[in-house]
Amino acid sequence: MSVLITGIGELTTNSEVTGDALVIDGAEIAWVGNAGNAPAADERVDVEGRAVLPGWVDSHTHLVFAGDRTAEFGARMAGKPYTAGGIAVTVNATRAATDDELAAVVRKHIAEALKQGTTFIETKTGYGLNVADEVRSARIAAEQADEVTFLGAHLVPPGEDADTYVDLVRGEMLDAVAPLVRWADVFCEKGAFDYDQSKAVLQAAAAKGLGLRVHGNQLGEGPGVRLAVELGAASVDHCTYLSAADIDALASSDTVATLLPACDLSTRQSLPPARALLDAGATVALASNCNPGSSYTSSMAFCVTTAVLQMRMSVEEAVWAATAGGAQALRRTDVGVIRPGARADLHVLDAPSITHLAYRPGVPLTHSVWRRGERTN
Ligand SMILES: [Zn+2]
Repeated sequence: MSVLITGIGELTTNSEVTGDALVIDGAEIAWVGNAGNAPAADERVDVEGRAVLPGWVDSHTHLVFAGDRTAEFGARMAGKPYTAGGIAVTVNATRAATDDELAAVVRKHIAEALKQGTTFIETKTGYGLNVADEVRSARIAAEQADEVTFLGAHLVPPGEDADTYVDLVRGEMLDAVAPLVRWADVFCEKGAFDYDQSKAVLQAAAAKGLGLRVHGNQLGEGPGVRLAVELGAASVDHCTYLSAADIDALASSDTVATLLPACDLSTRQSLPPARALLDAGATVALASNCNPGSSYTSSMAFCVTTAVLQMRMSVEEAVWAATAGGAQALRRTDVGVIRPGARADLHVLDAPSITHLAYRPGVPLTHSVWRRGERTN
């Protein structure tokens, strides 16, 4: 089954190809060019001048959770500070939930994201924090998400000794979870795991063949970025508080700086220094960090809008960061891009250009979405 899409008013490909038409064949893009040269296809869809771009690649979410933190959010908006310890509330609810309940939460949020143009999504464990609950979180995530990350080192469970817990995470827990995931991550932050503890977990994960990611520099300057670059992590996420040395380190490495502006707004932190990172030559991704505590949104468009209006990124930089940037943070070349051979993940805006994502903030602009070559809405 092939589909010829014509009438594209503005085509963002993140690649060398250009045109006003493209052909989907099965789950892949087969051709991109000008409609006058288009090959024959089984079906034809005219998008009537709308903008087409790759589906969003959301490279950072925490969707395997149960429970609700509305009250904590409300208290924060009333002036109470955010701390890493709120994660324990979600851990208790997640442990108490059934497999079916957890799977339903993941399904609901992936569907919600897809409706808004997110066609590729990473998600993490990290609300189990014991061997059995981390394994089941990874299994449930792997059934539905495109990429899965082991985040046993999210928080030391309350009442447990930190070094004993680190030994469990990099030992028995890692052994049990590793076959189910591609990535390992640590929350390297005051109140979570320090440099040495984070490094111990990541080195054990690398020895098991997992790719590395780091949550770092969210609540203040710290060793997260330095550790991520030192170990060749694919991405260091948050990057809210960076020193000049951190920016230099990112600019001269392959580690992507993944910015999570919805989280910074929702925890009343500063927004990350996107302009300084880009000007220094670092690779920047944008992701939602969708989770019930610090960033309860699945809207990549909101992140793009914020990046443009408040972080001084251009529209083109922000859209790239939320598509190709996310793909690079996940070391994928088949998504976040429109070119022959790429996955047919398309986002059609009800607008003539991507500029409208920032020009019309808060307006739902998703017109239609194709995922793996199938039209989903
Ligand atoms: Zn996170």
